[in-house]
Amino acid sequence: MREALEQLQRNAEAELNAAGSQEELLALRVKYLGRKGSLTQVLRQLGNVPVDERRLLGQFANEIKEALSAKIDGALQAVASQDRGNQLLVERIDVTLPGRRFGLGGLHPITQVAREICDIFSGLGFEIAEGPEVEFDYYNFEALNIPKDHPARDMQDTFYIGGNVLLRTHTSPVQIRVMEKQKPPVRIVSPGKVYRPDSDVSHTPMFHQVEGLLVDRGITFGDLKGVLTYFVGQLFGRDVALRFRPSFFPFTEPSAEVDIRCVMCRGGGCRVCGQSGWLEILGSGMVDPEVFKNVGYDPEAVTGFAFGLGVERIAMLKYGISDIRMFFENDMRFLEQF
Ligand SMILES: [Zn+2]
Repeated sequence: MREALEQLQRNAEAELNAAGSQEELLALRVKYLGRKGSLTQVLRQLGNVPVDERRLLGQFANEIKEALSAKIDGALQAVASQDRGNQLLVERIDVTLPGRRFGLGGLHPITQVAREICDIFSGLGFEIAEGPEVEFDYYNFEALNIPKDHPARDMQDTFYIGGNVLLRTHTSPVQIRVMEKQKPPVRIVSPGKVYRPDSDVSHTPMFHQVEGLLVDRGITFGDLKGVLTYFVGQLFGRDVALRFRPSFFPFTEPSAEVDIRCVMCRGGGCRVCGQSGWLEILGSGMVDPEVFKNVGYDPEAVTGFAFGLGVERIAMLKYGISDIRMFFENDMRFLEQF
């Protein structure tokens, strides 16, 4: 029996030396040391051995078992660490590579310019007021002195939701809503989206306006001129010249379009200004007494001025953009430049 054990040990060691993988080593452990393994079988036969030999043989068999078990464990560990080494060779990590960047979002150029405009007026004490984009005919037209069938409605055709509800054509209805709730003095600017059914290189069906209103005792056209001159100076630089041209708006009287000296050619004449040397940038005027009557203000006691400008138009002049539609095509190559 001792010989059988020695033979078993030699066989096991030979197989162990030939085993190269984790699977083979685990199979060897089952083959010799498992519950039905050959060494286990030998140990079970010890009962048949004469008592005086049993103790020594048992000791010898246990020594073989422990040695074999330790060798298999050692070989398994060696295989595992070699696998890890191989893995590291394949998946080499270059710690000098730059990290992956996640793109940070930014404000849309229109939002940036609208905020810049509002900031300038905030600095003069104007408050920001906002109102609904879906508006009643009354606030969008009638309260602003544009009755039904008035020819001025043709200038501002819009999208009707139904009945007397429509998408606002300007942010002026916010002025009415504020004056209905608040006694003079009033000093507001209202930024927001407005809608008109036009679409070409200089018009989109949706665009942005900022309008302003100032109402108090003794406000004159001189105040209007002073505020707008300061505003244009802040926006385009102090040396930009300004001119007021008589115009017509139903809700102001007198009314004026405001032009600035062309920022592209500095007045020499170019394609952007149509060779005139001037760029129209906003509309303005003294609030019509009829508008004050509609909100319950006394036109004998207070006067005021209002103005409005298109944010896209300002952004196009500021950045030299020739097609308004680029703002809304969501082309990242365009938007990332701001
Ligand atoms: Zn020009």
